[in-house]
Amino acid sequence: MMEECFNPKELIQEIQGQHLEKAGFNSTLLGEIQTDIGPCPFIRLKRKTGTGIPKVLLSAGIHGDEPAGPHAVLDLLKKISERKILLPQINLDIFPLINPSGFLRRTRTNQDGFDLNRCFATGHPPKEIRIMMNYLKNREYDLSVEFHEDIDTKGFYLYEHQPANVSETDSDKWGQEITALLRKKGFPINDNPIIEGMPAINGVISPKRKRRSFFRRHGWPQAFYMHKHGTSRTLTLETPPCISIAERVEIHIETFLFALSKMERSFTKNT
Ligand SMILES: [Zn+2]
Repeated sequence: MMEECFNPKELIQEIQGQHLEKAGFNSTLLGEIQTDIGPCPFIRLKRKTGTGIPKVLLSAGIHGDEPAGPHAVLDLLKKISERKILLPQINLDIFPLINPSGFLRRTRTNQDGFDLNRCFATGHPPKEIRIMMNYLKNREYDLSVEFHEDIDTKGFYLYEHQPANVSETDSDKWGQEITALLRKKGFPINDNPIIEGMPAINGVISPKRKRRSFFRRHGWPQAFYMHKHGTSRTLTLETPPCISIAERVEIHIETFLFALSKMERSFTKNT
């Protein structure tokens, strides 16, 4: 049984307690975020393997009431440290827990009431997002993966934003492959033709241009910011609460590793 942790400081401590140097990671303290139990370190993990290989960003815990994401990061790092998972040749940045105060309170927003995933275009974003944007503004990734959950869904779904130059062949539709893979493993998929007000196919939403005006009104989510700053491919994963935390963690990790293998293959194909 996976033990669920709701203490952000303990979760970060546990992440830092993994022997990740051996796996090529280092951890950097980027700041501290106020929570009800005092300041919590805001960290970024980095694994730099070389140049000319894919650059990937993984982030989790921007919504405090979606615990599977940060737990999936911890579990992934544990498995890497125990060499149960061998990462492919990629450069990887990880934000393991973006909203520690909301994580502690189990709320979507941070403790000041901000939905952090709508704050990527404001002039004075909350500290969590300011720290992230300072780091991200001059960086382009080949892939950005976000671990989320949706308390209203009965099955997994995802948002997929593909590079503009990708041809519309089936092999380039990672999202379709991901939901097919998860379905085969017995996980529930949200098959509604409309999810969150947008057309969906087999649990995959591909946001279209018309969303721009929506974001202008409601605030930018991280995926839109990443896209605007040159990250060509983003995947936002949404797990359903009706299955156990261990299963939701498994979905996130499986999907992430699948995306990495696709990334690695598409790179070797193009070089
Ligand atoms: Zn979310």
